[in-house]
Order: sequence, then structure tokens, then C-alpha cells
Amino acid sequence: MTSTLTVEPLTAVDRCDRCGAQAYVRVTMPAGSELLFCAHHGREYAPKLRELDAEIMDESERLDDAQPTPAGSSGRPD
Ligand SMILES: [Zn+2]
Repeated sequence: MTSTLTVEPLTAVDRCDRCGAQAYVRVTMPAGSELLFCAHHGREYAPKLRELDAEIMDESERLDDAQPTPAGSSGRPD
């Protein structure tokens, strides 16, 4: 029996645990619990979560692909 992690892509109904915005980042804690963050909070918490050995899956690129942003709005300084 293979151990396959079934990870469903984030959708528009997945919301950031912090601010309620659309989730772009899925975080799986070593204990198995799951957190969802928007791109902003994903970046904010990623360093700390990596210290905790969490698995971070950033789907922002895929979502950007599905939802093209107007020219000039990408790559803005943070
Ligand atoms: Zn957020």
C-alpha cells in the first residue's frame, strides 16, 4: 500500500485563517493539522512555519494563472 497524500487544490472557497481572504498557501503541520493563508499571510508566516518543520505549499502561481491579473499589478513590492 503506497502512502499517497491526497492534496486537493485550493479553491475560491478556501479562506485565509487570519484575514478571511482567498487562500493561496496551504500549510500542513508535522502533527497533521492544516492551515490556510492568503498570499500575504503565507509569506508572513512561512519562515516561522518552516522552523516548525511544516510543509508549505504555495499555490499562488497556479491561482494567478487561473485568475489573470491586470497588467502592472504583479510583482509589486511588499
Ligand atoms: Zn490573510
